[in-house]
Amino acid sequence: VTILGIETSCDDTGCAVVDGKGNVLGESLFSQNILHLRYGGINPLVARDLHRDNIELAVNQALEKAKINVTAIDAIAVTTKPGLLISLQIGVKYAKYLSKSYNKPLIPIHHMESHALVARMFYDIEFPFLTLLISGGHCLLAVVNDVDNFLLLGNTLDNAPGEVLDKAARRMKLRNIPAYSELAGGRAIEEAAKCSNNSELFAFPMPLVKSRDCNFSFSGIQDALIRHLLSKEKEHSVVGDRIIPEVNDLCAAFQSIIAEHISHRVQRAVIFCTKNQLLKENYKNIVVSGGVACNDFIFKTLQHVGDQLNCNVLRPPPKVCTDNGIMIAWNGIEKIKKKYQFHDVTLNSIEPKAPLGINIMDKVRE
Ligand code: ATP
Ligand code: FE
Repeated sequence: VTILGIETSCDDTGCAVVDGKGNVLGESLFSQNILHLRYGGINPLVARDLHRDNIELAVNQALEKAKINVTAIDAIAVTTKPGLLISLQIGVKYAKYLSKSYNKPLIPIHHMESHALVARMFYDIEFPFLTLLISGGHCLLAVVNDVDNFLLLGNTLDNAPGEVLDKAARRMKLRNIPAYSELAGGRAIEEAAKCSNNSELFAFPMPLVKSRDCNFSFSGIQDALIRHLLSKEKEHSVVGDRIIPEVNDLCAAFQSIIAEHISHRVQRAVIFCTKNQLLKENYKNIVVSGGVACNDFIFKTLQHVGDQLNCNVLRPPPKVCTDNGIMIAWNGIEKIKKKYQFHDVTLNSIEPKAPLGINIMDKVRE
């Protein structure tokens, strides 16, 4: 089988052609990252317009690189949920147009499920496995029992880590440092933290230390960052575009507390899964995906925790952790292998706020 995947849920127009063995035959990605850095966040109308401008080109590029004609594709997989309504509509409309014109079946894809499943394209990971999805819009912990069977263990009570990192990078004015000016917020913080020689200069409160569930909270850390910044700005009389001298240390401390908090929750999830036999005894895999999984410091912290718990911690290659068309096409392949029953996909199939799997968050607390 050969599948064309189309992703437009947020700000990236991503397309890819993937075959049944998981070979990427062709791919294309139109990222709006730099533009949104300039706007200071995602502007939905701008995002939608750029998807509209790029969608045909993105599909054609992926097909050309794959040296394949649409007629030779077996099906089209398209993100229908969750995401920005007007962005999702562009991808679904174009997929429907291709489907009608070339008589190809459509497969609706859940964006977050595909972030997790795409790891199976790179590693031999059997079901069930635990997944941690950390990105610009989400922070989720789930057991993946099968292609279409997810159990939701934990969610963020407030913001997503990518969103918090992006805001912090903006507030610290990292974009004014030429080497970081075109990097995603989280990436800029990771680079700045590498230049720190005192990551303990700033103390951050650990969120949800006493809670026995698998939820996350980043708002307290974010508030603490602002407080640290204000006090240092005052101390050095920093105004306008200038940056506090301790910026690298602040980035390192901030990144550390995020890594530690996430690790604590993963630890909690593994204990819960072990107690309830949700994972296989001697075969425990944790898949980390989503844009924040690109962060080597956070990933290594998680691997360290995994070692202590006898779990294998894996992530897709960084460019597949952020939004892309490859994971959508691969999810289509996985569904077809599971004898997916095709049905009509319409604009009504779009769900901007779709939950991930069956929510068992209440059970985790017990
Ligand atoms: P979602 O998948 O929840 O809809 P999204 O589509 O915005 O969110 P992704 O493309 O998966 O998210 O991830 C983008 C986020 O990843 C941004 O917030 C960005 O700052 C963050 N990010 C990218 N690289 C790194 C890095 N090296 N370290 C930390 N964060 C990073
Ligand atoms: Fe994403």
